[in-house]
Amino acid sequence: MDWRFDNSYARDLAGAYVAQAPAKAPAPRVLAFNAALAAELGLPEGLDPAAVFSGNLVPEGAAPLAQAYAGHQFGGFSPQLGDGRALLLGEVIDRAGRRRDIAMKGSGPTPFARRGDGWAAVGPVLREYLMGEAMAALGVPTSRALAAVATGRQVLRERPLPGAVLTRVAASHLRVGTFQFFAARGQAEMLRRLADYAIARHDPGCAAAANPYLAFFDGVVQRQARLVAQWMGLGFIHGVMNTDNMTISGETIDYGPCAFMEAYSPGTVFSSIDHQGRYAYGNQPLILAWNLARLAETLVSLFDADEARAVEVANARLDGIAGIYRAEWLAVMAEKLGLAAPDAALADGFVAALAGTDWTTGFRSLSEPALRGAWAERAALEAWLPGWEAARAPDWQARLAAANPVYIPRNYKVEEALAAAEAGDLAPFEALLAVVKAPFGARPGLEAYALPAPAQFVAGFRTFCGT
Ligand code: AMP
Ligand code: MG
Repeated sequence: MDWRFDNSYARDLAGAYVAQAPAKAPAPRVLAFNAALAAELGLPEGLDPAAVFSGNLVPEGAAPLAQAYAGHQFGGFSPQLGDGRALLLGEVIDRAGRRRDIAMKGSGPTPFARRGDGWAAVGPVLREYLMGEAMAALGVPTSRALAAVATGRQVLRERPLPGAVLTRVAASHLRVGTFQFFAARGQAEMLRRLADYAIARHDPGCAAAANPYLAFFDGVVQRQARLVAQWMGLGFIHGVMNTDNMTISGETIDYGPCAFMEAYSPGTVFSSIDHQGRYAYGNQPLILAWNLARLAETLVSLFDADEARAVEVANARLDGIAGIYRAEWLAVMAEKLGLAAPDAALADGFVAALAGTDWTTGFRSLSEPALRGAWAERAALEAWLPGWEAARAPDWQARLAAANPVYIPRNYKVEEALAAAEAGDLAPFEALLAVVKAPFGARPGLEAYALPAPAQFVAGFRTFCGT
């Protein structure tokens, strides 16, 4: 039996990709396989994951290709990035009727590889696997990991590392940078085709709107604002919010040097490549708006045939983004604080009182007062509590439990798991994955996973892109 591919990107967007087959792996070995997701996707039992998800066997119906895109990286524009080491294998219609991209990363160099080698290493592949699965369990829109397969190929980084391929699943891989690619080249007709494709795929309702492209832009704004608000609620730092890593679907993709913040400080940066702190925790909402402005620039000629009117309407939209984000963030905070309705003073007050305290256990301490002993600014918390007690929803305890995880992928646990996996021991990775796949509600025996990292680990912690 064949996998149900239906490759609309390959069919409809000639000029937006280069056809390319994955490289063959010398000695494929499955490191992790997401059987539940495979079932959702209707992956036929007869397809061998080691062969298919290493790149050794291109399944019947797939049409592998490298996608073209541009992007602002740390503020500087590159007119041509594209999938340098990734491939869209194809799209499958899942059991629920949804169209989903099946994509590989680390499957060999493509014409977009520039100076990169096209490979990925076991550590970063397993990090993306773990982070994506954790985010999915936390209720955040995200790409999902389907498989991680070691290739048997050595990959040269600062030192030789074992190579691997990650296969991930996403609603699509259309990015802000995909639009920038055609806008930068002045390809107006391709840009319109891309916008129409994106509308058909993600915002079919917009096709009938008075101004479909403006309605589409509004949809992207709404989804990305919601997404970043959810990141902020969890203390998640993406690390590389370049425009080529921000999706039209509103899903999180490209988990590179990302991490969950422990002690709350808005300036927190983990990424070893983010020297200026552009993508620090507290900057993420500003970067959201900045990236959406770059998307608006590519669409402005589609908003209105009259250029002055188009610019005016685009600027009005951009002015509205901060308010849209703020409303999403207040909604997230209302859930996390168990409030009956959003409350700006309580939300801002809590976050201010949280300074220096572990983000995740700080929220948990609302339902578990025993945890309040670890607060950095205890007096600030005590001053805040009476107002909160007066404003809580009748079912506040249930709300707190549903919105505030006990288990996140703690950085030191992730590092431990990846180091062991690199040395051939997958047990810590598997244990951590099982923990973060069920993040809500404490389970006996897992106490260590709920604790912030030891101080000596925090001081020197950086995550690396793995490129
Ligand atoms: P990322 O930081 O993973 O989002 O990648 C940014 C850009 O660099 C994309 O165009 C990637 O395809 C490309 N890239 C990153 N690492 C490699 C690599 N090892 N080989 C080829 N291209 C790469
Ligand atoms: Mg990327």
